[in-house]
Amino acid sequence: MTIVITGATGQLGHGVIKYLQEQNPTEKIVAVARNIEKARQQFAETNVEIRFGDYDEPVTLPNAFDGATKLLLVSSPEYDDPKRVVQHANAVKAARDAGVGHIFYTSIAFADESNLPLALLHLSTEYAIRTTGIPFTFIRNSLYSDVFINPGIAASVESGELVTNTDSARLNTVTRDDLAKGTAALLAGEGHENQIYNFVSSKTWSFDELAEVLSQVSGKEVKHRNVSYDEQVEYLKNVGLPEGVAAFTAVIYETIAGGETARTSDDLKNLIGEETSLEETVRQALDAK
Ligand code: NAP
Repeated sequence: MTIVITGATGQLGHGVIKYLQEQNPTEKIVAVARNIEKARQQFAETNVEIRFGDYDEPVTLPNAFDGATKLLLVSSPEYDDPKRVVQHANAVKAARDAGVGHIFYTSIAFADESNLPLALLHLSTEYAIRTTGIPFTFIRNSLYSDVFINPGIAASVESGELVTNTDSARLNTVTRDDLAKGTAALLAGEGHENQIYNFVSSKTWSFDELAEVLSQVSGKEVKHRNVSYDEQVEYLKNVGLPEGVAAFTAVIYETIAGGETARTSDDLKNLIGEETSLEETVRQALDAK
């Protein structure tokens, strides 16, 4: 079996390859990268084969995917969604031309019911994959816990407050590492053809709870301060974020406040066991600062 993985130099793709190798070190794994030198360094002293592939250069992709029993198509990080639609269509067409046996795609949680602006991009890619007739597995990932809980959260410990416009909304986020582990389990396993999995947490958390956990772990009191959308944008601009990023973040928070991330699923837990706890995620973020 040959498993080909795109986005291999990225955090998720790299993690998937790490877990695949732990499970079966002799499996043939192909890492598709734009930056061959970076990939060589990341996969030094492994038997991972490295191939060049760029979603913006369609001619490079059929060779990159050649011989794939399974292809993990990691979504592009491009912000311009119409451009990203084309990138993904390039990859899907190449998978069809290369005769890939089974396409796994990293989509977004509950894509067909989601209000996140990203959902349309992911749905369009899912439908592009369906047009090929190739067996598929859509891995509908949560927002990463790491987006909210990362070394930057040390600033909230210092200021004593977490400021969001999420009110008391619940979040079903999962760490990238748990998503990588679950994705590797799907790729290494039998079956999963034409299945959709929602890789969200089986338990949710809120920013009020995050503030409590931050207080416990750091030993300094941290409170969650809920603000309006406009106040959130101003706050983020004042702490140094560019206006566009501040507005984007406030929109995500507003969508969360509307209940977008409240739904749970056991799809991931059934594959990897208990997800990383909020406490452990906070501990790792503060230790990494
Ligand atoms: P990441 O660390 O930014 O990795 C993105 C990967 O895509 C890198 O390997 C990058 O290669 C590769 N890439 C970029 N442009 C490409 C192109 N034109 N052709 C081929 N490969 C290209 O992101 P991640 O954390 O691994 O996440 C994986 C994906 O999930 C992201 O790309 C994004 O679509 C999505 N995402 C989801 C969330 C969430 O909360 N669920 C958050 C952020 C992103 P280089 O090393 O050459 O740049």
